[in-house]
Amino acid sequence: MIKLERPDCPPKLVLKKDELTREYKLTKGSVWKKTFITNPLQKMSNNKCCFCECKLGEEGKYMQVEHFYPKNIYEDKVVDWNNLLPICMRCNTHKGSYDTYVNEIIDPTILNPPDHLYLSKYRLKGKDDLGKLTVKILDLNDTEEISVPRFKIADAVVNKIEEAFDLVESYNPQTGEALKEAQIIRKVRSILKQCTSKYVYSAIVSTVVLSDHLYDKLKSELVNKGIWTTDMQNLEDTAKTIKFDVKS
Ligand SMILES: [Zn+2]
Repeated sequence: MIKLERPDCPPKLVLKKDELTREYKLTKGSVWKKTFITNPLQKMSNNKCCFCECKLGEEGKYMQVEHFYPKNIYEDKVVDWNNLLPICMRCNTHKGSYDTYVNEIIDPTILNPPDHLYLSKYRLKGKDDLGKLTVKILDLNDTEEISVPRFKIADAVVNKIEEAFDLVESYNPQTGEALKEAQIIRKVRSILKQCTSKYVYSAIVSTVVLSDHLYDKLKSELVNKGIWTTDMQNLEDTAKTIKFDVKS
């Protein structure tokens, strides 16, 4: 889970909000299923679930619209822009009509998830009651649906760190091996890009990369050999903002 920046309410929703709310109260229909609502939500989260960071639109994981405060209890919020989030079916099923007014969970457009969550052995844990409840309600360590896929992705990135380290260790800047240098830069950029918000499970991947001892050694080698770039530093700085603390 990463912090999301909510854009302004779509102009069409500003115009239609009252009409759609009235319609919902009468019909209980899916009045939020409008592209002027769903498209900006998808864009806001880079087409990922706002809670578990799985990719939406793949493997049958179509985007659903989450009503942070449940629509069946808070009908006036059915198309309230600040109440809508992009969510996967799995998280939506777990959250159901859970009343977040009574017991709050993390709204990633308002709160910064790493302030409330940490990682322990690839499992998300709560730093406080809010974090603990969020993990529990959404089952954010669901083995089959979440833990295994995010572990596989993070583990593949760790393998890339090993490959990049082997390459950079044998790289001699004095002999000007341009091809090898390009290969190293490509690999390191690809590792760091997977730590950015466009990629699935970016918070977990950032955490795993930045807490990997070999990554530190890799960076030192890159710096010493003069191939650590400003672009890499910028990507690393971004990763630092979304990573979780690690506790054993
Ligand atoms: Zn999800």
